[in-house]
Amino acid sequence: MDLSLTSEQKMILQTASRLATEVLAPRAAELDASCGFPREGLQRLAEAGLMGILIPPALGGGGGDTLSFVLATEELAKACGSTALSYVTQIASEFTILVGGTAEQKARYLPAMCSGEKLGLLAATEPNSGSNSMVMEAFAERQNDHYVLNGTKNFITNGGEAAVNLVVVRTNKAPGPQSLSLFIVDRDTPGFTIGKRDVRMGFNGVSSSELIFQNCKVPADNLIGQEGAGAMTVMAAGGLSTLGAAAISIGLAQAALSASVNWAKERVIAGQPIGAYQGIQFLITEMSASVAAARALLYSAVYTRDTSPPGLSVASFQAKLFASEMAVDVTNKALQIHGGHGYSRELPLERYFRDARGVTLHFSPTEPLKELLGKVTLGLFP
Ligand SMILES: Cc1cc2nc3c(=O)[nH]c(=O)nc-3n(C[C@H](O)[C@H](O)[C@H](O)COP(=O)(O)OP(=O)(O)OC[C@H]3O[C@@H](n4cnc5c(N)ncnc54)[C@H](O)[C@@H]3O)c2cc1C
Repeated sequence: MDLSLTSEQKMILQTASRLATEVLAPRAAELDASCGFPREGLQRLAEAGLMGILIPPALGGGGGDTLSFVLATEELAKACGSTALSYVTQIASEFTILVGGTAEQKARYLPAMCSGEKLGLLAATEPNSGSNSMVMEAFAERQNDHYVLNGTKNFITNGGEAAVNLVVVRTNKAPGPQSLSLFIVDRDTPGFTIGKRDVRMGFNGVSSSELIFQNCKVPADNLIGQEGAGAMTVMAAGGLSTLGAAAISIGLAQAALSASVNWAKERVIAGQPIGAYQGIQFLITEMSASVAAARALLYSAVYTRDTSPPGLSVASFQAKLFASEMAVDVTNKALQIHGGHGYSRELPLERYFRDARGVTLHFSPTEPLKELLGKVTLGLFP
């Protein structure tokens, strides 16, 4: 595995880093406190070509690779977790249309998504089927040239802001993944409304909302792939989401680590910086080794994914599992190093911790992920 960056990857990294520092970081605290939405930040990312990072130039994108995507995501997360979460959701939505959509769907949606004109989302979670999408209830019934959707999705990132709503529903009552299908629901479709916006522990600068479908008529042309192919398409794109989730976690942890190193040098107690204490040195060492390990695992997962046939990406899931738990630990330690200042909202440490905690729940929570990986390792899956 060659870890040297190409000139294009370096350019993307520099662009993301500059925008993160100049545009996202100054607004991150206010965005979080006001429960806003990072429209302006996302638009700046689109103008810099980052929004269509994985989409071919012919469809309005930059034609970049998966490593470029995770490099950019880590930079954004260092500055603003909410913008990074919205960004990963957008890129995963675009990628889902790219891998599963028809030529007409790609032409209709992808150029507008790459330019930032249209935002996307991916909706699977429901009030009665969180981690286990196999028991979801939302249903689409075929009627002539359209489907009628009924059901509710909850905790959906970019909800209410997205024009392009990718929604997984059941098209068959039989159990199993072959009953799940994926639809594009345009924001203005009659019968589609937005329910309450959640007030959460973290990622408050991005919307999380209910999507409600009541006899919502969706043209049959908006089905992505075949009926029953929804789970496979989401799985292909899901590998990308999990890599994005790992990159968000690493960005948050790196920001917390960098802040802690500075704090340990500058915070003087009884005449010496706290970094002179072995207890603080040990914490910094553990944090730094953990971030480096998660990053190496992520880059290795990117390599494995790019050089393997499409399908269940075990390496991506391992990277997500490790990085998300690592980020909770590292941001927690950083908070401790900063003492009462870390616990206060005057510094971003508590925000890093709150955001990091959310990644262990989203993109498949830790426990089902461990169960899946355990089964794969033991040869019990599928
Ligand atoms: C920040 C954030 C963003 C999100 N964005 C989206 C989005 O854009 N789209 C979307 O569809 N959803 C989104 N979600 C929802 C998220 O995917 C769900 O919260 C997640 O799938 C868990 O579902 P649940 O909350 O209903 O928990 P439940 O499924 O009720 O799980 C509750 C607990 O049981 C545990 N558990 C479940 N199965 C097992 C098992 N087999 N063994 C042991 N323990 C188990 C879980 O790990 C969890 O700890 C988001 C959530 C968060 C926090």
